[in-house]
Amino acid sequence: MAKAKTGLTKYVFVTGGVLSGVGKGITAASIGNILKARGLSVNIQKCDPYLNTDAGTLNPAEHGECFVTADGAETDLDLGHYERFLNIELTRQSSLMSGRIMRQVIDDERAGKYLGKTVQIIPHVTSAIQEHIQNAAKGFDVHIIEVGGTVGDYEGLSFIEAIRELGMRVGRENCAYVHVVYLPYLGASGELKTKPAQNAVRELRGLGIVPDVLVARSEAQAPDEVISKLSLFSGVDKRAIVLLPNANTIYQVPLTLEKQNIGKVLVERLNLPNKKANVASWHKLVERASNDSAPVLHIGIVAKYLNNQDTYMSVVEALKSAAWAAGKQVRIKWIDAEKFENTKVNIAKELSGLHGIVVPGGFGKRGLEGKIRAATFSLDSKLPYLGLCLGMQVGVIAAARRAGLKGANTIELNPNTPHPVIHTMNDQKGKEGTGGTMRLGNYPCELVEGSLARKLYTAKTVNERHRHRYEANNKYVGQYANWGISASGVSPDGTLVEIIEGTNHPFFIASQFHPEFKSRPTHPHPLFAGFIDACAQTK
Ligand code: GLN
Repeated sequence: MAKAKTGLTKYVFVTGGVLSGVGKGITAASIGNILKARGLSVNIQKCDPYLNTDAGTLNPAEHGECFVTADGAETDLDLGHYERFLNIELTRQSSLMSGRIMRQVIDDERAGKYLGKTVQIIPHVTSAIQEHIQNAAKGFDVHIIEVGGTVGDYEGLSFIEAIRELGMRVGRENCAYVHVVYLPYLGASGELKTKPAQNAVRELRGLGIVPDVLVARSEAQAPDEVISKLSLFSGVDKRAIVLLPNANTIYQVPLTLEKQNIGKVLVERLNLPNKKANVASWHKLVERASNDSAPVLHIGIVAKYLNNQDTYMSVVEALKSAAWAAGKQVRIKWIDAEKFENTKVNIAKELSGLHGIVVPGGFGKRGLEGKIRAATFSLDSKLPYLGLCLGMQVGVIAAARRAGLKGANTIELNPNTPHPVIHTMNDQKGKEGTGGTMRLGNYPCELVEGSLARKLYTAKTVNERHRHRYEANNKYVGQYANWGISASGVSPDGTLVEIIEGTNHPFFIASQFHPEFKSRPTHPHPLFAGFIDACAQTK
């Protein structure tokens, strides 16, 4: 863990007004990025007002990807942005949902810790929140706290109150409040309107917080007068107002903030040393990401959720980063796995023109047979294949069935299969349906000498993040060679298949873990980099 260089931890609180989904998470991550670029040690945390305990039970179609930290927390996808923008590994401390706080307060009450006092939102819930925030902040120069939702939401009030109180506790000079607002565009008059943003600031002030920085998101570039107007109505210094129009790539945002001097405004506000920000590698990244003349690779993602692509956020970011590093661009074709369940659908035709396919993680029966067919097609046609978690399990099933093992399946799809090539992990038996019980977080994996995986990683042992309940059944591993696959990564005790690869295939590689969580925009993950290289060879 990083050590504070300046002694005292400073706090940056990021809230949002007007509406949700305007990029508050990216803004918080970008602030972290530019502060880290000044040599400061930075931690970051998301507070989510939902009454859930964690994101593990949230529907990914509605909430997007469930991100997994190294220590096995199931979190909001914003933590993925944080890790990518700050190039750090976060822990479960960085994800705080109301359910966790409520449970703690109620447990404490039952344990008699309140000594007969009336237990209340203020001060007990708000103190518990502050305690979590301060624990996460320990040892860092700056701790950034993003409060989910929109200020004024009923369920978010205890978090807003907690960050207001925390400002008093640590001293106003040691914290900065950043409010992200939205400027809607009115086609009829051809203007960007500031009124909802003005109201959103008033709402925040009404709750006792005066923002130090305003981030004004808009679809199009706002004219500079908007800054004077916002400043007049909100009382925020003009220098501390940033205009953030839509960017070609989210990775542009730190540079936009930096260009508008927000890093400087924040370090001055917080009395931190104003070192020059080192953003050279980030500049290079944005240059590569914006290179529209780079050759395009067409990648199919065979998936279950097509209406909310946030569900596969880290997969898409990992593909892009690998492509950019190789001087390419990717275009994703979203392929409905369920459609492939219809045997009349011509898979070759559906996948024609693609340089490779990815089968990402997933749960439940819907679309699973379709994913198995996609994996079979890749084995037959030698189309590059990258399987992630469930993508490995369907890879094993496809290989088994091709070799004549009729009805081979995963217990998840057919509990009565004659050949359970994927079955329930021993330590998962009886735990189905309860939150936070899967095999979660980092586990080591040893790479077999001479395998493609070992070559790609250039390492003998790797640590990767997991989130699964089923595993490859060891009873069948001896048959893999006959099926045209090999187990090229295994747990150190040899009991768990972690990676498989096609033995007579240019690139068929699949892992039981989720490599996408460890990929970084400036350091693409080796499995993704290898996949992109193989795709570039597809005729
Ligand atoms: N459903 C599978 C399992 O639980 C795969 C999980 C995943 O893809 N994350 O093992």
